[in-house]
Amino acid sequence: MRRISINRYRCAYCGACVAVCKFDANELVETFLTIHEDKCTLCMACVKTCPMQALEVEE
Ligand code: SF4
Ligand code: SF4
Repeated sequence: MRRISINRYRCAYCGACVAVCKFDANELVETFLTIHEDKCTLCMACVKTCPMQALEVEE
């Protein structure tokens, strides 16, 4: 199943992906980002927004 994967070595915890997600699927708690797959529509907004290229679609 396609999903958004997080490269935790790249993530800088900036919160940009959380801010851009219209579906409330990203959650950042201190230094830990979670993507809730039940809410994610694979719209790609977070992938395009991430300044660290930490997010990508995993097939
Ligand atoms: S936008 Fe990228 S660097 Fe920022 S919290 Fe999200 S995944 Fe991490
Ligand atoms: S792909 Fe879209 S819906 Fe899924 S977490 Fe990123 S911004 Fe939210």
